[in-house]
Amino acid sequence: MLSPRVQQAMNDQLQVELQSAYVYLGMAAYCETVSLGGFAQWLHKQAEEEYGHAMRFYTFVNDRQGKVELKTLDAAPSDYPSALAVFEKALEHERSVTAAIDKLYELVHDEKDFASQAWLDWFATEQVEEEKTVGTIVDQLKMIGDRGEALFMLDKEMANRARTGV
Ligand code: MG
Repeated sequence: MLSPRVQQAMNDQLQVELQSAYVYLGMAAYCETVSLGGFAQWLHKQAEEEYGHAMRFYTFVNDRQGKVELKTLDAAPSDYPSALAVFEKALEHERSVTAAIDKLYELVHDEKDFASQAWLDWFATEQVEEEKTVGTIVDQLKMIGDRGEALFMLDKEMANRARTGV
């Protein structure tokens, strides 16, 4: 059984993960408009992964005999000035998700809900990976700068990464 405080916090994080899916979908839509199909594929896959994270919370709340609450999502932008701006925003977003997971981790610890704490370990580790992956793409886009041919190559590489899941 979840305490009311943990249940509310878990539902808040379910919303954060769904919002993440929505944000990545908006980013994918922007990349489609500028013919960066590889980036769009990668971002679309990322959106699916975020939906998967949301479903983990959905299932966990139900498994603990809690009640799922689906909250309002914010509009997700699909206008960006560049691919670099997309990934800088994605990195900022992932850092805010990490902060939310850390806060949730602290809350379940305070509530002595150790089953939730152990379950959240996966998310704490996942966020390390998310920040590293997105941060690397930001660095690569900075390296590329204005060179269209290099961006074209990275777009092909992103399609490959989306396919292989790296
Ligand atoms: Mg996530």
